[in-house]
Amino acid sequence: MNFHVLTLFPEMILNGMNTSITGRAIAAGRLSLEAVNIRDFAFNKHQKVDDYPYGGGAGMLMQAEPVYLAWQSVAEKLERKPRVVYLTPQGQVFRQSMAAELAGEEDLIFLCGHYEGIDERVLEEIVTDYVSIGDYVLTGGELPAMVLMDCISRMVPGVLSNQESGETESFAGNLLEYPQYSRPEEWHGRRVPDILLSGHHANIDKWRREQSILRTAQRRPDLLKKADLTNKEWAWLKAERKQEEL
Ligand code: SAM
Repeated sequence: MNFHVLTLFPEMILNGMNTSITGRAIAAGRLSLEAVNIRDFAFNKHQKVDDYPYGGGAGMLMQAEPVYLAWQSVAEKLERKPRVVYLTPQGQVFRQSMAAELAGEEDLIFLCGHYEGIDERVLEEIVTDYVSIGDYVLTGGELPAMVLMDCISRMVPGVLSNQESGETESFAGNLLEYPQYSRPEEWHGRRVPDILLSGHHANIDKWRREQSILRTAQRRPDLLKKADLTNKEWAWLKAERKQEEL
């Protein structure tokens, strides 16, 4: 997986991504990352890349040409046109399923806006996907780009040291993950559930599945509607919730 990020703040991308698990994956060659500085493609001596919006209004807009030239430099080097993801609060809200789909690409270009955003004409010309990380507005697309790259990276074989951990986590099968515990067995008077100390793997799996279902019902009932539960599990959940109400 090769990430190419078009940004006014390459150091933010490089510092963030070269840390921890993604940093290790980049060093091992499982991921590659380039941060292309849009300012390098400014066409004036002050390296200015923003201007006032036509029609008035607050703030400045990133101009079309430097963004286009930055994109062109990547497309020409690759000799093809990979998908271009523009991070914007106006996009589709990012989800695990979207990450899985994007992880199938060999190259991805992320376009980070700043100020009031980017001249619409260059977006029309180069962007293939408009993605938001949630219904709120940030100062720039760098953090959202890192959110996407981090999540997608976890699906690239060899990035996580234990591939299993990616499969049983929250959102797998539209369920949240079960609660987890590590040593010591007792902390602040709270004991690890006995079943986890039993060594009985089938019972542990059953308990974990039930806890996932329960937790999803409590915290994300919207997700549970899409989860694949057996009739027996639905009945168990109903009884459990009734018990909670008593
Ligand atoms: N004027 C724009 C609007 O109302 O849609 C918001 C511009 S925002 C201040 C500057 C940049 O931050 C955007 O171009 C985008 O790249 C990024 N950004 C802000 N919030 C975001 C979000 N929730 N998801 C993804 N990108 C976001």
